[in-house]
Amino acid sequence: MRTRRSGADLHTHTTASDGACTPAELVARADRAGLAAVAITDHDTLQGLPEALAAAALPAIRVRVIAGIEIAVRYKPGKFHLLGYFVDPASPSLGHRLAVLGANRSSRNERMIERLQAIGLDLTADDVRAASGGGQIGRPHMAAALMAKGVVQSVQEAFDRFLGSGCPGHVPKDKIGLEEGIALVHEAGGAAVVAHPLTLGHEMVEMAGVFARLRGLGLDGAECWYPQHTTEQARALAALARRAGLTVTGGSDFHGDTKPNNHLGQAFGGCPAPLSIVRGLEARLPTA
Ligand code: AMP
Ligand code: FE
Ligand code: FE
Ligand code: ZN
Repeated sequence: MRTRRSGADLHTHTTASDGACTPAELVARADRAGLAAVAITDHDTLQGLPEALAAAALPAIRVRVIAGIEIAVRYKPGKFHLLGYFVDPASPSLGHRLAVLGANRSSRNERMIERLQAIGLDLTADDVRAASGGGQIGRPHMAAALMAKGVVQSVQEAFDRFLGSGCPGHVPKDKIGLEEGIALVHEAGGAAVVAHPLTLGHEMVEMAGVFARLRGLGLDGAECWYPQHTTEQARALAALARRAGLTVTGGSDFHGDTKPNNHLGQAFGGCPAPLSIVRGLEARLPTA
C-alpha cells in the first residue's frame, strides 16, 4: 500500500559541494527514507541540481525535489547562510555571480594550501582534489585530506588547529552582501530563508528585532527546525519568526560523515519537518 508522505528535509548537501552523496544518491536515499520533499542546498553552487532533478523524474522516485542553494553572505556579528528555494538552476544572474565566487574560491584554496605548506604540512592541491567528490572544493576537503594523511584525527581537529578562522592556514572567503543575496534569490525566482539563525551571533532576546529587520530587507523565511536547536530554541525561534512575518522552515543540514550528527530526514527531534513548510515557501515565491 502506498502511504501518504508527510515529511520534508529542506537542507542537504551533495558532492557538488561538501556532502558525501552524489545528487542522484541523495535523491534515492531521501526517497527510501520516505520523505515527501527534499531540497538540495549545496554551498554556493547550482551544479548539483540538474542531476538531482533528473533523478527525481525517474518513475520509481516519489520524493519531490526542490532546487535550492545555500549562499554564505557577509554578516556581523556571526555567520549568515542564506538558503534559496525553488531557484531556477539556469538563472543567468545567480549563475554568473556564483561563477565569480567560484573563481575567488579557487584562488583562496591555493592560498590556503600554500599557507599550510609554509607551516610544514605535507598537503598538495591534488590531495585536496582527491578528497572532494569532483565538485566544488573547500575547507572540508582540506580537512579530509589532512585526515587521510594522518596529520589530524578528525575534521574538527583540522578546523581547530589549521583551517578555522584565526588559524595558520585560514584565508577569509569572499562573500556577497546580504541584500544582494536576497535579490539574487528573488531574481532567480526563489524564496530567501536564513539558515540556522542561531549562528548569526545574536542572543535570543535580540532575535525579534533581527527577524523584523531581515523581513524588512525582503527575507521570506527562517530555518527554525534544525538538529542543533534545543526544543526551547526551536519553538522560540518559530514564534518570533512568524511574528515578524517570516515563514518557518526546517532541514537536517545532512552532509554525510563530515557532519556525523546531522542525519538525512532528521530536521528536529529525530523527525523531518512538516510538509506544510513547503506550502509556506511556495506562498512566498515572487510569482505567487
Ligand atoms: P568553506 O566554504 O571552504 O569555507 O567551507 C565551509 C564549510 O566548512 C562549512 O559549510 C562546514 O561544512 C565546514 N566547517 C566550517 N567550520 C567548521 C568546523 N569548525 N568544523 C567542521 N566543519 C566546519
Ligand atoms: Fe557544509
Ligand atoms: Fe550552513
Ligand atoms: Zn548547510
